[in-house]
Amino acid sequence: MALTALLSVSDKTGIVEFAQALNAQGVRLLSTGGTAKLLAEKGLPVTEVSEITGFPEMLDGRVKTLHPRVHGGILARRDLPEHMAALKEHGIDTIDMLVVNLYPFAQATAKADCTLENAIENIDIGGPTMLRAAAKNWQDVAVIIDPVDYEQVLSEMKANGITRSTKFMLAKKVFAHTAAYDGMITNYLTALEAGAELATEAVPARAEYPAVYNLQLHKVQGMRYGENPHQSAAFYREAAPVVSTLANWTQIQGKELSFNNIADADAAWECVKAFEAPACVIIKHANPCGVAVGAGPLEAYTKALKTDPTSAFGGIMAFNRVVDADVIEAINANKQFVEVVIAPKFTDAARAAYASKQNVRLLEVPLDDATRKLGNALDFKRVGGGMLLQSADAIDIVGDIKVVTQLQPTEQQMKDMLFAWTVARFVKSNAIVFCKDGMTMGVGAGQMSRLDSARIASIKAGHAGLTLQGTAVASDAFFPFRDGLDVVVDAGATCVIHPGGSMRDDEVIAAANERGIAMVFTGTRHFRH
Ligand code: 5GP
Repeated sequence: MALTALLSVSDKTGIVEFAQALNAQGVRLLSTGGTAKLLAEKGLPVTEVSEITGFPEMLDGRVKTLHPRVHGGILARRDLPEHMAALKEHGIDTIDMLVVNLYPFAQATAKADCTLENAIENIDIGGPTMLRAAAKNWQDVAVIIDPVDYEQVLSEMKANGITRSTKFMLAKKVFAHTAAYDGMITNYLTALEAGAELATEAVPARAEYPAVYNLQLHKVQGMRYGENPHQSAAFYREAAPVVSTLANWTQIQGKELSFNNIADADAAWECVKAFEAPACVIIKHANPCGVAVGAGPLEAYTKALKTDPTSAFGGIMAFNRVVDADVIEAINANKQFVEVVIAPKFTDAARAAYASKQNVRLLEVPLDDATRKLGNALDFKRVGGGMLLQSADAIDIVGDIKVVTQLQPTEQQMKDMLFAWTVARFVKSNAIVFCKDGMTMGVGAGQMSRLDSARIASIKAGHAGLTLQGTAVASDAFFPFRDGLDVVVDAGATCVIHPGGSMRDDEVIAAANERGIAMVFTGTRHFRH
C-alpha cells in the first residue's frame, strides 16, 4: 500500500522539490491550506486535510489538523492489532510521514511593532501537537521538522527505506524543537512589561533582555567530563552567536576540547579582544597570568610570558592578530607547554611549526571590528534552584575618568593605568594588577581581601624577577581604607587607577598625596566572580 505523508509548513523552503520527490516515489500527499495550495499550483496531486476530516479549516486556521482522522493516523501503533483494528473500524488511514514546521513566533516577536495579540496568533497549536504525536510514534512515522533533513530522508527512502536510527534522530530533534518553541513563548510573555496584557499597541519585550527569548541553544558535543572527572558535561552553542565570540571557533589541530579548555579559552579570547594593539593573553584557571601588547604578536607573547612563566605552563593563550611561525617557534624554544592557542588566523607556516605537537589545540575565531566589543549580550550565573541574568560587563569606563591627586599622571602613566584597568576587568575579584610599558608585572586575583591580592601580586612579581618600581596599578573596586594603597605604593607603584566611591575616599586621596603618587578615579567598578 502506498505510504501517506502529511505536509504542513510555515517555512516553505524546499517543500515543493521534496513533495515532488515523494510523489515520484508513489507517496500520497496530504496537506493543509497554504501548503496544499502551493503544491497544487506546482501540479502535484494533493489531498487537503479538510477532505479527510470532513471539516473545513476554521477559526482563522486555529483548527486545521486537530482531528482523530489525523491524530489516529499518526499515533496508531502498527505492531498492535487492536490499534490497527480501531483504525479500520473508524475508516482511518495511517499517516507514515509528517513534514511540519511551526508558525514563526521568533520572527514575529522580533519585530518592534509586534503587538501581544499578534504574538499570540503566532503561537502554533496544531503543528506541535502533530509533531509530538509523530515523534512519540517514531518507530512508525518519520517526522521532519527541518528542511535540511529532506535530502537524507529521500536518499534513505531510495535505498532501503528510512533507517531506525534516522527516525530516532528526527524524533529527538522534534522534542528539542518543541521544547525550545514553548521556552521562547514563555520567555517572551515573562519579559513583557507589566500591564502589557492590557495594551493593544506594540508591546515588545523589555529592551534590556533582547536575547533571552531568542536564545536557542543546540548541543554541539558531549564531553568526557566536566570541570572534574566525576562531573558530566556538554557544550551548547547559540543558534547564531555574535561573530567575534568564541563559539564560532574552528579547531584546526589538537585533541578534543575539554570543559575547562573551553571555559579558559573564552576568558582568554574575551580579554585579548579588548585590546586594539597586537596583544597576547595567557590564562590559567580563568585568570590572566600574563597580558601584554607589543609591536606584533611575537613581542606581545614574549612580554606576556615574562609576567609569570611558572603559571603560564599548561595555560591557554589568545592573540588578536594573525599568528605566524615566529610566535610558534618562540613557544617551542621556551619549551612552553600550552593547552590551547586561539587566534583569528594561523598562517600555514605557523601550523607547520606546530605540526610536531599535534596534541596542542589550535582554534581560529573570526575577529570582526563591528562585533569585536559586543561579546555576549547576556551573562548567566547558575544558583541553587534558579539563575541570575545580567547584561555583560563589556565597557571599560562608563563615564569620564578624573585625576584626584595633586600630582597629574604623565602620558605614559595614563597609558599604563588604562592598560592595567582593561586587564583588571578580566581578573577575578579582588583584582590588583601592576603594569608597565604595556605588560602585566604582577597579578593578584580572587582573594577575599584586597590587601591580600595586592600582596600576592607583589610576591609573584618578585618570583618572576620583575621590579615593580614605577608601575601603574589597577584595582577592580575602590580601596576601602588607605592600607591597600600603602601596600601597592610600598611595592613600587607610582600611579593608581580605581573606581573611587568609598566612604573614605578622602583618607585614600590624602594618602596618595602624602605618598606622592598620581591617582585616577574611573567611577566604574568591575567585580568579576
Ligand atoms: P498552511 O500554510 O499549510 O496553511 O499552514 C501551515 C502551518 O499550520 C504549519 O506551521 C503548521 O504547524 C500549522 N498547523 C497545522 N495544523 C494546525 C492546527 O490545527 N492549528 C494551528 N494553529 N496550526 C496548525
